[in-house]
Amino acid sequence: MRLILLGPPGAGKGTQAQRLVQKYGIIQLSTGEMLRAAVASQTPVGLQAKDIMASGALVPDEIVIGIISDRLDQPDMKNGFILDGFPRTVPQAAALDELLKKKHIKLDAVVELRVNESALLDRVETRVAEMRARGEEVRIDDTPEVLSKRLANYRSLTEPLIHYYSERRKLLTVDGMMTIEHVTREINRILSAIGAVEPRAAAPARKARGAARKTAGLTGKKAAKTAKKAVKTARKATKPASRAASKAASLAKGRGTAKAKKAAKKTTSRPAKKVTKKRAKR
Ligand code: ADP
Repeated sequence: MRLILLGPPGAGKGTQAQRLVQKYGIIQLSTGEMLRAAVASQTPVGLQAKDIMASGALVPDEIVIGIISDRLDQPDMKNGFILDGFPRTVPQAAALDELLKKKHIKLDAVVELRVNESALLDRVETRVAEMRARGEEVRIDDTPEVLSKRLANYRSLTEPLIHYYSERRKLLTVDGMMTIEHVTREINRILSAIGAVEPRAAAPARKARGAARKTAGLTGKKAAKTAKKAVKTARKATKPASRAASKAASLAKGRGTAKAKKAAKKTTSRPAKKVTKKRAKR
């Protein structure tokens, strides 16, 4: 999965990026983090970026494009990535398009986290207070003055990207004013809807299909038919259904078709949704 997260400072890009990283095992590329690391270790890029970042201005396009280009070439990128904080200007977006084309990488989506501007200052202030409480070093650009400059830059330089990606049919907008949990759920939902990720259902169904294939190979036509029947139900995909389907498949494989038929019947006559509900009630 290859994504861009778009939104003003305080929109929750970093928080959501981390959740996506955990769920899908992809890499988060945050240009802000990379630049802060460069500043901390006083690399030539860091020395150039330090004062610019402290003032809330944007680091020149060539620098961040260079950083991203190098990073995309590394082997850990092959499972996918989330770009957080890049691109931030239309020239950066155009450069990214070129880079991806050259490297034969396809972007799945741009997820915009839309938030009311009035909430942003509060959010950043909360973040600062929490970091202080944890004894962490607070970002020097997280002051009200610098934040208003960062917001102004977002409006004039980054917001045009909403139109840029919407024209290219890549934009997905999520209401970033919901709770963290809700935003995560909504992002996952839309990513499934566009086919960027396998819906949760797909894994059990695949497992059952695999079992059916195995059974078909080992015990002939009747068993295969039975297992297939079970798979049909499991395709609607919930865990209980898939478990029952696997049971049917394994019975068909090991203990003859009568028992297998019974198990498959059980699977078909007990829609997985109901099973889940029952379990929830218990
Ligand atoms: P936020 O989005 O919360 O403002 P980031 O951590 O993404 O913060 O970025 C911090 C600073 O790093 C920015 O204000 C800017 O100076 C610099 N920066 C990060 N990404 C870019 C970029 N893509 N282009 C130019 N400057 C960048």
